Amino acid sequence: MVESISSGNEAMTLENQYGAHNYHPLPVVLTKGQGVFLWDVEGKRYYDCLSAYSAVNQGHCHPRIIQALINQAQVLTLTSRAFYNDKLGIAEKYVCETFGYDKALFMNSGAEANETAIKLARKWGYTKKGIAENKAVIVVAKQNFHGRTTTIISASTDPSATAGFGPFMPGFEIVEYDNREALEKTLANPNVCGLWIEPIQGEAGVYVPHDGYLKEAEKLCRQHKVLFMLDEIQTGIARTGKMLAGDHENVRPDILILGKALSGGVMPISLVLADDEVMLVIKPGEHGSTFGGNPLASVVVVEALQVIKDERLAENAERLGIIFRMRMNALIAKTNLITLVRGKGLLNAIVINDSPESKTAWDLCLKFAENGLLAKPTHGNIIRLAPPLVITEEQIHECCDIIEKSVRAY
Ligand code: PLP
Repeated sequence: MVESISSGNEAMTLENQYGAHNYHPLPVVLTKGQGVFLWDVEGKRYYDCLSAYSAVNQGHCHPRIIQALINQAQVLTLTSRAFYNDKLGIAEKYVCETFGYDKALFMNSGAEANETAIKLARKWGYTKKGIAENKAVIVVAKQNFHGRTTTIISASTDPSATAGFGPFMPGFEIVEYDNREALEKTLANPNVCGLWIEPIQGEAGVYVPHDGYLKEAEKLCRQHKVLFMLDEIQTGIARTGKMLAGDHENVRPDILILGKALSGGVMPISLVLADDEVMLVIKPGEHGSTFGGNPLASVVVVEALQVIKDERLAENAERLGIIFRMRMNALIAKTNLITLVRGKGLLNAIVINDSPESKTAWDLCLKFAENGLLAKPTHGNIIRLAPPLVITEEQIHECCDIIEKSVRAY
């Protein structure tokens, strides 16, 4: 048995030898996190500009969330849903009131929440819209990312998500993202029960649709009696400068899907919210999860969301996002290496002036790491930059300084 790691190399060797090779991590071995910072095993400090894919919006090891976790972990962690527990109802009421829905259904990973949403939409399609058995269609967007299960990848257009993993689940129709006309045609099919999209396509490279797209999509859904399903797993919980990215356009999805920062990154918690007309189509015994809605998660989710509100993290993300994009645009004016910056709040990406197949973005991320900032390319030549939302103005400038210094040195 290995009791502890004596060097970064040893940790990487162990992972490479004994772990599946389903990720290609940057060669940094982390051991501690606090707020916006991470430390590696050699004691070097980094700004975390990935935030575990936006799961630690509240910052690493937020003391209030950790305390809530510890307190509850010493009392009761898991009962399964075979019985009631004294924390789940409190959490359900809290999230229903926070987001404005009748009912909540807790799961664990984001993919599971999306699977739940798919089942809800299909069952609603059969029982409320009158779609013939097994004919329900869910419309999805090109370049979507909703998770890694076999059903979810059946809706994917990304070969690296699908190749070698067929056969695929039928019942998805793909439409161009951010294209109202395409959407209008597709939603007219009476077998469509849901439109399932991300308000900003994070994983694809932070693609922000034109202002008004979400409102148009919502309106078209209402016109065609189609459920509007918004996957806010990455964009939600203050990341884009509002509690939900959909709030920028005042949309209210029929099914809201959340995950990641719901727990501040301390454990997997995901959530589906809907009104009774949708949520109650699922009856006892038709869906569930051993860990979903456990008392530990129930306590953590309330504290993690309360931290977002108390520390006004949405406002911070909005304000510092503007500064970040301003700094990046100033840098773009001075370099050929970056062609553009895009994003909302503190969910941003820079696009590197090279092909997606090139190693330039990867190498630049290595340079960032050398200079004390962690980020990772998505889809080859795009680098997502999404620090914890507790970052200060001074710190965001320091991050921009590191990016600038790395670009100049490249
Ligand atoms: N949906 C979106 C929009 C995501 O960004 C992600 C993860 O990055 C997921 C779903 C999947 O979440 P999980 O990895 O928790 O299954």
